[in-house]
Amino acid sequence: MKSIERSTNGSAANSGVLPSHLRLATCGFALLIVLTQTARAETPAATRARAIAQWPAARPIDRAKLVRLGLRVLKGRHITLVTDLPSTPEVDELPNLVDAAVPLLAQRFGIDEEDLRDWHLLGSVIVDRETFAAADLLPTRGEEFPDGLSIGYELWVAEQPSDYYRRHLLLHEMTHSFMATQLGGCGPGWYMEGMAELLGTHHWDPKTKKLRLAVMPASRKVVPMWGRPKLLQQAVADQRLLPIVSVMQIDNRRALDVEAYAWVWALAKFLDTHPRYRDRFRSLRSQTLEPDFNAKFRKRFAHDWSDLETEWRLFVSSMVYGHDIEREAIDFARPAPRRARTPHRLPIIATRGWQSTGLRLEAGERYEIKASGRFVIGQEPDGTPWPCEPGGITLDYHAGHPLGQLLAVIDPRPESRPDQAASAGPRPGTSAFLHPQPIGLRTTLAPKRSGLLFLRLNDSPDRLRDNRGSATVSIRRLP
Ligand SMILES: [Zn+2]
Repeated sequence: MKSIERSTNGSAANSGVLPSHLRLATCGFALLIVLTQTARAETPAATRARAIAQWPAARPIDRAKLVRLGLRVLKGRHITLVTDLPSTPEVDELPNLVDAAVPLLAQRFGIDEEDLRDWHLLGSVIVDRETFAAADLLPTRGEEFPDGLSIGYELWVAEQPSDYYRRHLLLHEMTHSFMATQLGGCGPGWYMEGMAELLGTHHWDPKTKKLRLAVMPASRKVVPMWGRPKLLQQAVADQRLLPIVSVMQIDNRRALDVEAYAWVWALAKFLDTHPRYRDRFRSLRSQTLEPDFNAKFRKRFAHDWSDLETEWRLFVSSMVYGHDIEREAIDFARPAPRRARTPHRLPIIATRGWQSTGLRLEAGERYEIKASGRFVIGQEPDGTPWPCEPGGITLDYHAGHPLGQLLAVIDPRPESRPDQAASAGPRPGTSAFLHPQPIGLRTTLAPKRSGLLFLRLNDSPDRLRDNRGSATVSIRRLP
């Protein structure tokens, strides 16, 4: 297990080294473009076209020479893959994987598939570098790549210890190549590597040639050697939870360790999936040549940065395979604050994460919370449901509380006012959701801090889908 960790570490760390060269070239070029753009008032489309034209086509190959050296050439529509790996179904299908990925990347980045008819990469999947050196297939400027590298239309992948991770790295480098040659640039380091990790995380069915990108892997078993959730769990346990601004500082011009890849993946995956943030995140694809990309990113999220940061902390703190980001999304919409003078009844739904009660509780007051009703909090492998009441079932626990138990959080952040958001900069998020309070069937709550009351039925973020029904909760202030 240790050696697996280390080798995963090495893979990701090293795949960061080389794209950094590409990124330096891209950044330098972007700056040049900005200057000319001002002088000539060039349109963004023209700027992009010139950035794209910078990349030379892949070098021609001498097939007979490669065969003499013992290399195999695998031809796909969008890639010519050279490898010294022996023929296996998992290796020989790699061009199919690339061809299946092209329309998905086109859709993702808003590129017309017609424009990609002649888009063609030269890729090397390498065991013995000396053979590739003899074949004149290594990077022309001697760039080092312990694991992976993309330079325009050419990419290199060092052989990996699992079929999944070999495909992952190929899709990762291919994403760099696609963004460089189709968007003209990949954006700042966190976005560049975040997108490559997001789109490298995949599900591939070789029988149907069906490929899905940007998946949330359901379990460790389906992504051998990937390991990102475990690294994040460890970082959180060590009290090293990175706020979003720190993730944005991850700079791939330096060698990155694999944990950095885990952070940029998590941020890209979270923003790409969350229903309130995904459109804004996806629209950044048109900004990769902008020198103030990060400022544009911050501006898009300025008005709800505090909510975003709050949910981000919760997401990484509850990181599991199969994390259901959509069901865990919190609706912070603050209804006109109610003071809970009269009993307030509402349903708390079993298939969702934290739900706002719309009630503001005051420090120093006492509140009675009662809950009733029957819902389903899980099921046996054969589909037999686990019925549950808001006291929870001790059959199973999640995060130290019985499954299905009613939990409460008081969000202590002050009401946000639109005029404050612009002047005071982003409000910080809250970590209150990381420390819920058990409620069960009935309890009296005496808040130490005032704030909006949120409730949920306790369950793991990967197991909300198989729940059903809701509990009924009644809240009143005690005299
Ligand atoms: Zn990369």
